[in-house]
Amino acid sequence: MTEQGMETMQTKYWKASPNAEAFDPAILEAAEYLRSGRLVAFPTETVYGLGANALSTEAVEKIFQAKGRPSDNPLIVHIADPGQLDDLVLEYDAPVKQLIEAFWPGPLTLVLPVRPGAVSPRVTAGLSTIAVRMPDHPLALHLIRAAGCPVAAPSANRSGKPSPTAAEHVRNDLDGRIDGILDGGHSGVGLESTVVEWADGKVWILRPGGITPEDIRRLGLAVELDASLQSTGGDSSDAASSFDGVKEAGGPTPRSPGMKYRHYAPKGMLSIVQGDNPQKVSAYIQERIDEAKAKGEKTGILAFEEHLPYYRADVVLSCGSQDDLSSAGKLLYDALREFDREGVSYILAEGFREDGLGLAVMNRLHKAAGGRLIHI
Ligand code: AMP
Ligand code: MG
Repeated sequence: MTEQGMETMQTKYWKASPNAEAFDPAILEAAEYLRSGRLVAFPTETVYGLGANALSTEAVEKIFQAKGRPSDNPLIVHIADPGQLDDLVLEYDAPVKQLIEAFWPGPLTLVLPVRPGAVSPRVTAGLSTIAVRMPDHPLALHLIRAAGCPVAAPSANRSGKPSPTAAEHVRNDLDGRIDGILDGGHSGVGLESTVVEWADGKVWILRPGGITPEDIRRLGLAVELDASLQSTGGDSSDAASSFDGVKEAGGPTPRSPGMKYRHYAPKGMLSIVQGDNPQKVSAYIQERIDEAKAKGEKTGILAFEEHLPYYRADVVLSCGSQDDLSSAGKLLYDALREFDREGVSYILAEGFREDGLGLAVMNRLHKAAGGRLIHI
């Protein structure tokens, strides 16, 4: 079915408290939807996911249609118990067990050799590996348990849009394109899971996320960033425009297929300004913004809470405190949506230091900016 040809359907809405009991009628009905091959969005501790029965090719196919997601970008399978992992993957080494014990349930996705035939081949995009995680959200766990099947679930947004952290964001993007939305209030940290693979005696980070390299090193394991992440600085010259699901030109072939796609792009032109001297960064940003405004642009600035008083623009938004990035992911996605709502056409963002959660947040910001980074 083509993008335009997608029929609209009635999207069912359920509301449930994040602390609802396992037998809450909303959860049971949503689970029945999933089991029978329909698409249901649900909250997790990272962002809202768009779930489908991972055993059914027909169901999984609908995810790609509803999101407009490139079909060679595999999906993460969500389970409700670590024991379910053995049905999905071949045997794995002791360090993988260590990661599971330390971080599940939680925002860590493991890429492991897939047990042949365990899920629809559309889930893995034909790879010999499968990505699996156990979310740390009571509604998600109840739902997956009640559905009785592994649940493939990417973020519940149209491809190329910011990840949703509230049911309302899902509704804006996917109303009429999916079967149901389980509204459990705001999702958690707002940053997607960290995707890792155990290979050559190391934990390879394929996508940075809520679990930081430092968190993993604390277990005594060696951690390495995938080649695709080592140059987030990148070259801004090839990034004049950013389209949904467009492949980035050049660069090393990533081990995580999704890393080659641009994501989370706001409609306005966003660039990141980074430098060691915060005063210089602020002065530069204000100067560029004033110039843009004089040319008739509607301007936006995304800055650390501490720096907000220094800025004047049509829309000035906070990405949180420099000293606590725990909500920076959610603030970033909310801000990108807000800039779009306000029709902002020219946006400058302060860059993050790439340690701790800053690595993941900067990675998302970098994608949102289509690689446009100004170093001063
Ligand atoms: P999303 O569901 O959009 O949050 O993205 C899922 C991420 O997991 C993408 O970056 C995928 O490329 C990655 N992923 C899923 N399955 C695999 C796999 N088998 N091997 C490597 N990366 C994977
Ligand atoms: Mg996504």
